[in-house]
Amino acid sequence: MSSARAIERLLGALPQRCAEQVPLASLCTWRIGGPADLLLKPDNEAELALALGILGEESASWWMVGAGSNLLFPDEGLRGVVLRLGAGFAGLDLESPLVTAGAALNATTLCRTVAEAGLAGLEFAGGIPGSVGGMVRMNAGAHGQDVAQTLSRVRVMERDGQAYWLAAAELGLVYRSCSLLADRLVLAAQFTLREDRPEEILQRMRAMLDARRSSQPLREATCGSVFKRPGGDFPGRLIEDAGLKGARMGAAVVSSLHANFFINEGGATARDMLALVDHVKRTVKERFGVELEEEFRHVQ
Ligand SMILES: Cc1cc2nc3c(=O)[nH]c(=O)nc-3n(C[C@H](O)[C@H](O)[C@H](O)COP(=O)(O)OP(=O)(O)OC[C@H]3O[C@@H](n4cnc5c(N)ncnc54)[C@H](O)[C@@H]3O)c2cc1C
Repeated sequence: MSSARAIERLLGALPQRCAEQVPLASLCTWRIGGPADLLLKPDNEAELALALGILGEESASWWMVGAGSNLLFPDEGLRGVVLRLGAGFAGLDLESPLVTAGAALNATTLCRTVAEAGLAGLEFAGGIPGSVGGMVRMNAGAHGQDVAQTLSRVRVMERDGQAYWLAAAELGLVYRSCSLLADRLVLAAQFTLREDRPEEILQRMRAMLDARRSSQPLREATCGSVFKRPGGDFPGRLIEDAGLKGARMGAAVVSSLHANFFINEGGATARDMLALVDHVKRTVKERFGVELEEEFRHVQ
């Protein structure tokens, strides 16, 4: 009931930012999930603070979503409000060697733009289909690098609407997570990059993208890696060695190109995907004694 009151107030206060009954499948790369009662896309800090105030006063349920490239939504949808930062949060400011990017900016756009401007250090993220906010929250990484290596500070908003900058060192960034951001929203991120020749940066980025294209099913509906790397080992290798490439539950299938990518072939449900995740975890545990841990976030 409290979510219903919050939705009514949000529709009144920020009508142009609201959409009702939005299919969550359209908000994520796995293309799974029933309807969210309300999708709210605030376009500036004042609107976001206003929305958080209403959500707090009404004790309503809400979830933050970036580009949805690391999320599994429930088949029955979400009874409450999904927040996604609007285009007003997608700015980019280059003041070499500092780069300040809005949290809604596409990570690939960020990497390409800074590379063309002769700033190196983010080429590893060239093929990550997330937003800057999601990339920071997940401490995204690839090719032995991650966000933490170049991140200098982050503009955050607390649940009470207070916004301020936090130094990266204070964030507690660890492998694919960041404890201090569990309760804060990322509004923008500042990176300290290093100057290099654009052709060389772009060349490195292209090589990483080629390696990705040849080893990952990038044209399919996936969430990237399903499992984190358990202490140095590769989940893809363990899953493959357990004979699970091509294993399926309904329309959810273990990729035959990269066994740590699970594909929605079309019409897979969250139930299918979770059953497949469970089956793979149990089989790998039985075969190798290794406990796999999910990298994606199961929103519920
Ligand atoms: C084909 C493919 C390849 C991928 N390759 C990689 C890879 O190489 N390396 C890697 O690390 N990941 C990879 N991923 C996973 C994913 O792209 C990253 O984790 C990405 O950083 C998630 O960003 P997002 O905006 O999509 O976040 P979402 O999936 O929308 O959200 C992820 C988490 O971040 C939170 N969040 C999102 N935005 C904000 C914000 N503004 N403030 C606070 N919290 C926020 C959400 O609440 C959620 O908890 C891949 C995914 C795909 C589909």
